[in-house]
Amino acid sequence: MSKKKLAVARMWYEGNSFSPSVTGLDTFQASEWSEGDSAVTFYRGTATEIGAVIAFAENHPDWDITYLRCAGAPPGGPVADDAFKIIEADILSGLMRQNWDAVYLSLHGAMITESNPTPDFDLLRGVREVIGRTPLAASFDLHANLGPEMIGQLDIATGYKTYPHIDKDVAATQALTCLVAMVNGRVAPVSAVAKVKAIYTSFNMRTTDGPMAEIAALAEEWRAQPGVLEATVFGGFAYGDSPFAGPTALVVTDNDPALARRAADALAAEMAERRPRFEIKPPSPAEAIAQALATPGDKPAAVTDPADNPLSGGIGDTPGLFRALLAARPGVPAVFGFFWDPALVERARQASIGATIDVRLGGRVSDKFGAPIEASAKVLALTDGRFRNMGPYDHHLEVDVGATAMLDVDGIKVIVTSGCQTPNDPAYFSLHGIDLAKLGLLCVKAKNHFRAGFTELTRCIIECDAPGPAGVSLDHYDFRYAPKELLGR
Ligand SMILES: [Zn+2]
Repeated sequence: MSKKKLAVARMWYEGNSFSPSVTGLDTFQASEWSEGDSAVTFYRGTATEIGAVIAFAENHPDWDITYLRCAGAPPGGPVADDAFKIIEADILSGLMRQNWDAVYLSLHGAMITESNPTPDFDLLRGVREVIGRTPLAASFDLHANLGPEMIGQLDIATGYKTYPHIDKDVAATQALTCLVAMVNGRVAPVSAVAKVKAIYTSFNMRTTDGPMAEIAALAEEWRAQPGVLEATVFGGFAYGDSPFAGPTALVVTDNDPALARRAADALAAEMAERRPRFEIKPPSPAEAIAQALATPGDKPAAVTDPADNPLSGGIGDTPGLFRALLAARPGVPAVFGFFWDPALVERARQASIGATIDVRLGGRVSDKFGAPIEASAKVLALTDGRFRNMGPYDHHLEVDVGATAMLDVDGIKVIVTSGCQTPNDPAYFSLHGIDLAKLGLLCVKAKNHFRAGFTELTRCIIECDAPGPAGVSLDHYDFRYAPKELLGR
């Protein structure tokens, strides 16, 4: 018997419409850029979507899998138009090469480009045009901005159920299992989508506790119902300015459109009802540092600055939290992670370890969120910025944040990197020779994903409200594409 043919492709990106930086093809090429055997080498053994496809392949010898373009980059500003066109063309031309029994796409669902607020939708339409009625599945990030038009292109859609996202592989496996069942004629998937008419930030969207944990539990109850193949509530990505903005309830059933509709509407209503609990007001950086230092315990205290979290489209550049940290004079071993400044890393390398240099920290990409901080800094360490994740988030994935320097500024250790990535894994700090157990205070440009690896290692994690491209109040941002009624404007 001849093997069935599955085509797999990935285009994973979360775009912040309010970030001053544009993400080019080089960023994808430096982060995730593979096809064929190189994709298998890159993702094998990782807790990612393509890692799950590789595991699926090993358990399904009756399927022959072709890895087309797999591209991904850490969240950032809009993707350059030409970069999206190249990734899209790679995927579409790969699909055109032959006929397939099924196609699986690993998407984020909140990509934006310089001129296009819905590139994921365009890709899905293009794929559908090429493959006709071939069964098509996609998995999405919990922060996807999904529209019914997007889901309408798909036979099967699934999503992450956790935030921090530690089940990317699970969402892919779920999509693949359903896809195989469809190809074998065992299920006939139908979907329903219900939108919530508001935009929620993800500050209080963790699935470990709070309102989103309740929503996740309700979705799980629906998934346990006979005939339900998938039920997920996507929180949406607040800073992705898209006509599909806002949370989305998605339910896929086995040939029961009425059940899918009922479940999606019920989940969207539950999400809408909890809106006030998603609207939180974090303390200022100074207040957050004071609270952290006052929290008793032996482990370090952590303060996060979600407004400049690269995984929300932050630019590793806003000075608000660091300015407050300098002013606080914490009196305990303190680390700040990080500033994105490739030129400063290079200067530190030239000066070499032990040298003292004059620096300007932050306010480099844009001074819109605060002026640079001028200081004298001693070079403490230099690294190549490469490590393998130790924590549960993207566990075991190889990470390259570019060359880094660790500086001493007024007794505070400051990490400066050539790439702009959230310090979400303990290995980021051990790379710099930092023993987390001996720290008093850790201040980071990060949000909820940070908690996956650091909840156990810290005595508290307190987020602050500082100016940045991903702040808590959406009033600071000019939306062009999101429906105005979602913003209450
Ligand atoms: Zn996400």
